[in-house]
Amino acid sequence: MNIPFLSFAPQHDPIRENVLAAIAAVYDKQWYVLGDQVKAFEAAYADFNQVKHCIGVANGLDALHLALEALNVGPDDEVLVPSNTYIATWLAISYVGATPVPVEPSLSTYNIDPTKIEAAITPRTKGIMPVHLYGQACEMGPIMEIAQRHGLWVVEDNAQAQGATWQGGITGSFGDVNGTSFYPGKNLGALGDAGAITTNDAELGGKIRTLRNYGSQKKYYNEVIGYNSRLDELQAAVLSVKLPHLIEWTQQRQAVAALYDQHLKGLGDLILPLVAQGATHVYHLYVVRSKHREALQQHLQEQGVGTLIHYPVPPHLQQAYAHMSIPEGTYPIAEELAHTALSLPMWPGMQEKEVIAVAAAVRNFFERA
Ligand SMILES: *Cc1c(COP(=O)(O)O)cnc(C)c1O
Repeated sequence: MNIPFLSFAPQHDPIRENVLAAIAAVYDKQWYVLGDQVKAFEAAYADFNQVKHCIGVANGLDALHLALEALNVGPDDEVLVPSNTYIATWLAISYVGATPVPVEPSLSTYNIDPTKIEAAITPRTKGIMPVHLYGQACEMGPIMEIAQRHGLWVVEDNAQAQGATWQGGITGSFGDVNGTSFYPGKNLGALGDAGAITTNDAELGGKIRTLRNYGSQKKYYNEVIGYNSRLDELQAAVLSVKLPHLIEWTQQRQAVAALYDQHLKGLGDLILPLVAQGATHVYHLYVVRSKHREALQQHLQEQGVGTLIHYPVPPHLQQAYAHMSIPEGTYPIAEELAHTALSLPMWPGMQEKEVIAVAAAVRNFFERA
């Protein structure tokens, strides 16, 4: 059985007519940027995310960048960031001229370890950017408590975890201002690039609304040096059709994960995802770990099973950050994850027989070895 890493079919086939109708409506209305579709989606997503304000932007990286810009983060500032995140979290910090200061994750959840945050705080530290990696909510209680005690802001990177919760609170609603991504493969995906900021702070929200649109509130009057980072009407229309399905799709992802958990237990040195007490996991990715990762990936490929590695090189070892001169070995947990993590096929609506076939291919790797 050939099993890709990701299939959109079970998600997209049933809503095809509705999505195409929404696209046609935008086409016919002849209003393509910052109109009713964006307004309606922003209101619906703010409601879903239990925040007062949602601002649609062009992509997730811009969401994080504009969040930092609205918070007046700049050169001389340090921002605490996980050592094992996707590069975008670091890039947003670099865009405003600040310095990313890595904090190691917990080796069980892969999320930033709250017990390691305080040791990284210096007089220059301005904020913390927790990333709900792979879809699991960070321990937001301790993180917010540390931030408050040290007068730091918090910007959640919620690109991978729409709908996840920490002790009942939804990710993207804890921080001062938070960013998410609707890149097609994310849990809520557009048909191209899209992103959003979520916040309860009207002033920060207003600043970001201005920043995303050329620094302008009134057409052709520019208050600040802004950007062109708007969510398109077309993408907003598609996202509005998809959003009402997100909870059901999340449950389907969780069912796939539960099947994997059941069928992959106790195989060789294979480590399965662990969900922290108080957190929920929306399984943007189902990531396993093994010292034999390369051979396992090769074996699965030969068996027709698609996998990916999230991520093969941690940000501090990327060429883009060579100027920081952080030697290998400085963040051993991030490096260990880069060497051992493997993401198995995961999508909402993945069939039980597909999950079992992937598990069987993993099992015969370990039983043969
Ligand atoms: C996808 C992603 C982003 C960036 O989103 P884009 O829409 O691709 O710019 C940021 N952070 C994390 C953790 C992501 O997974």
